[in-house]
Amino acid sequence: MFTTHQDPIIAIATAPGRGGIGVVRLSFGKLVAEVVARLMLAVCGQELLPRYATYVPFLDAQGGILDRGIGLYFAAPHSYTGEHVLELQGHGGPIVLQLLLQRCLAANIVPGLRLAEPGEFTRRAFLNDKLDLAQAEAVADLIEASTEAAARCAGRSLDGVFSRAIQQLVEDLIRLRMLVEATLDFPEEEIDFLEAADARGKLATLRHELSQIQSDARQGALLREGLSVVLAGQPNVGKSSLLNALAGAELAIVTPIAGTTRDKIAQTIQIEGIPLHIVDTAGLRETEDEVERAGIARTWQAIKQADIVLHLLDARIGFTHEDAAIAASLPAGVPIIQLHNKIDLLAESAAVALATEAKAVRTVRLSAKSGAGIDDLRAQLLEIAGWQVGTESVYSARERHLIALRAANRHLLNAAEQAAQNAQALDLFAEELRLAQLQLNTITGEFTSDDLLGEIFSRFCIGK
Ligand code: GDP
Repeated sequence: MFTTHQDPIIAIATAPGRGGIGVVRLSFGKLVAEVVARLMLAVCGQELLPRYATYVPFLDAQGGILDRGIGLYFAAPHSYTGEHVLELQGHGGPIVLQLLLQRCLAANIVPGLRLAEPGEFTRRAFLNDKLDLAQAEAVADLIEASTEAAARCAGRSLDGVFSRAIQQLVEDLIRLRMLVEATLDFPEEEIDFLEAADARGKLATLRHELSQIQSDARQGALLREGLSVVLAGQPNVGKSSLLNALAGAELAIVTPIAGTTRDKIAQTIQIEGIPLHIVDTAGLRETEDEVERAGIARTWQAIKQADIVLHLLDARIGFTHEDAAIAASLPAGVPIIQLHNKIDLLAESAAVALATEAKAVRTVRLSAKSGAGIDDLRAQLLEIAGWQVGTESVYSARERHLIALRAANRHLLNAAEQAAQNAQALDLFAEELRLAQLQLNTITGEFTSDDLLGEIFSRFCIGK
């Protein structure tokens, strides 16, 4: 929990470890510029001009030099948090940055100065109207993006593309609501209202706008979350070869998803910028080893939550008893693609025989070695994911946003049904519009509970 939103806070803002430079950042809460000046004098030996990069020594309590670097002062309200902010950019060593941080804390110049909680700088930016909630979430999404496309998408949300689309929709909705509410005050005019004001037409336009936003947001959420894909099959059918073939040259800029690298159960590749978190079932064997068993239990957990299962077979052998056992162990309800691998080793006639064997499951015939069929597999994966090509303008979105958009959509649909049935129920029509607006407002954070804010910002890294 956050103690108070007005305390002065401090954190090392750069990532742990060694780097060229490292940044200690302070946000001064409600404190006035004189306090900032006193700290600058003590730690930098001089007062810094706002928004000028000044090369200064960083001083310890005795006036000895801890480091030299750039001091940057952003005077309120022109800062990331909207409060007075001081950035001390020193050399990026963990110890020297700790010394600098401790120096600021121990100087006893900034009353109540404490270490920042995760995401607390960004939370303040939100509370001080520097960012809306969707933009604040985009900050974390940008930092956590696991593919280039996801990062670009988060950048667009941070820039306000998503928020502006929502605001535009809300403005149009408010305009319609004003019309409706005004008519409610003159009941004798209700009957004509829906016709005269073209309320139905306006509502249809709103619904169209919303569905466009939903579609972009769904794509954005897909880019952000990616798909969890389970790779199953007997030893030697070509699972690792397939992973390599799928990853191609794109593997280089992909980072593994958090929490799974330790177990080595998942590896992330990407298709068209969508992260695919691949869970390899190769390690799923009976074992007495405690640690290994814990890893296997986690793998099963991941399998249960998978979006897609790829079941790999040797095309020359086909579906065996062992494959039946594998298939039986996979969770029900998850889409399965059966992959017949090594078709480069098949005689023509055998290939035809296999192709006619197709069952209810999706089947792709491919060769991890020659690359034949890999594009077909990519296309199938994208189709199951619901990816639409040509959506360069999508913005990052989260499950929370999708839920709010769906709820808003439901209310607009209800309103449309009211309008279609009769004109008498204008108050119900108005109420549905109001509820739709409330849902949209939760996305940008106009009305948001403290609990939700705590939940969102606690997932940030410290110093952000
Ligand atoms: P895994 O145990 O399922 O991960 O299988 P591997 O990817 O290690 O492949 C087992 C063997 O099959 C290796 O020698 C691969 O080179 C070979 N292999 C995999 N896919 C193909 C393919 O499509 N065609 C051919 N000819 N060989 C393949």
